[in-house]
Amino acid sequence: MSNSSANKPIVAIIGGGPAGMSCALWLKQLGLSPYIIERNAALGGQLLNIDRINRWVLGLPWLTSVELAGRYGKHIGEEHIPIHYNTELKAIETTEQGYGLVLQKMAERNETLMQVQALVIATGVRVLGREVFSLTPGFDALVAAGLVGCFPIDHLARIESLRGRTVAVIGGGDNAHFTVKDVASAATRTYLLMRSSPKAQNSIRNEVAALVDQGRVVEYQGTEVDAFRQTQTGIEISLKQSGSIAARINVDMVFTRIGFSPNSKFLETLGILATIDKQSAGYVLTDASQRTSLASVYAIGDVACPSLQSVVTAIAGGAVAARAIADDLNTGGNV
Ligand SMILES: Cc1cc2nc3c(=O)[nH]c(=O)nc-3n(C[C@H](O)[C@H](O)[C@H](O)COP(=O)(O)OP(=O)(O)OC[C@H]3O[C@@H](n4cnc5c(N)ncnc54)[C@H](O)[C@@H]3O)c2cc1C
Repeated sequence: MSNSSANKPIVAIIGGGPAGMSCALWLKQLGLSPYIIERNAALGGQLLNIDRINRWVLGLPWLTSVELAGRYGKHIGEEHIPIHYNTELKAIETTEQGYGLVLQKMAERNETLMQVQALVIATGVRVLGREVFSLTPGFDALVAAGLVGCFPIDHLARIESLRGRTVAVIGGGDNAHFTVKDVASAATRTYLLMRSSPKAQNSIRNEVAALVDQGRVVEYQGTEVDAFRQTQTGIEISLKQSGSIAARINVDMVFTRIGFSPNSKFLETLGILATIDKQSAGYVLTDASQRTSLASVYAIGDVACPSLQSVVTAIAGGAVAARAIADDLNTGGNV
């Protein structure tokens, strides 16, 4: 294997979360030249938003996700892997050697051109909530008043302030149910508002069902929010069923827990990348080696994996893709 970086195939990785960082590390060890393109000012991705112990990473049971992000970023720094911070991919063209990329620093006009042999999409998912409910009357006013939380764990810091209050949680999956369970430990009454039927795993669903039986939680199924209205005493939520108003409830605080969406929409404006096959809901479709339907383009981590979104699967996906890239570019390199 040559040590000359001039001869090493260049691989651009879009996204500096755990998946992108892991892929970069493995590519470097396999003798390639990785570049991370990150639209934020720091590496870490979703982990930077989760300041609580991560119990799911083997051998590191005492670290928070924020601390994990710090360790991963430090490792990438020690490996001298180049990173373009605050940068997005603006355009792409197919070239003889692979792809020509046009990168742009956010809020700047300067463009950087980069010739790469392969491209990895590692852009993760975003929390749905604000972008969906901002179409519902009254929602933006609640956000401005600080009466809504849209991030899956943002109720935890507020539990004490919810003591004796009435709270609505919107959503029917695991996050909605976990939020209801936490909130109900303090609130006088918690409403669980579901557009269809419950989608949570059995164990947490059963715990919430027990709270319903005890009268601590009131749930509505098959009900959509028609409007939010801030009143002098709190928030009025109008609920509709089959097109007509079915109920009005009054609460002090609202938490939305309606799921995630893959950060893959940006591909639609990027010429050839728009042709990449997707699975349902816009997740990027890959084979078992993280190859997409487009030659020399790979996808890893949450953006390609709706079924299991976690640090360790993101890290594993990065390694698998790096191995496939080394094989596809015929660069040799062994683990
Ligand atoms: C509330 C919550 C709690 C969680 N708790 C745990 C837990 O306890 N244990 C666990 O293992 N997992 C947990 N997870 C899941 C875990 O955080 C993710 O599975 C993991 O971060 C996925 O890594 P990723 O690299 O695929 O994506 P991300 O971490 O989302 O990183 C994607 C990166 O891509 C960047 N990016 C996005 N679009 C672009 C673009 N167009 N151009 C450039 N850069 C871009 C983003 O800024 C980000 O840095 C939790 C998730 C949430 C939301």
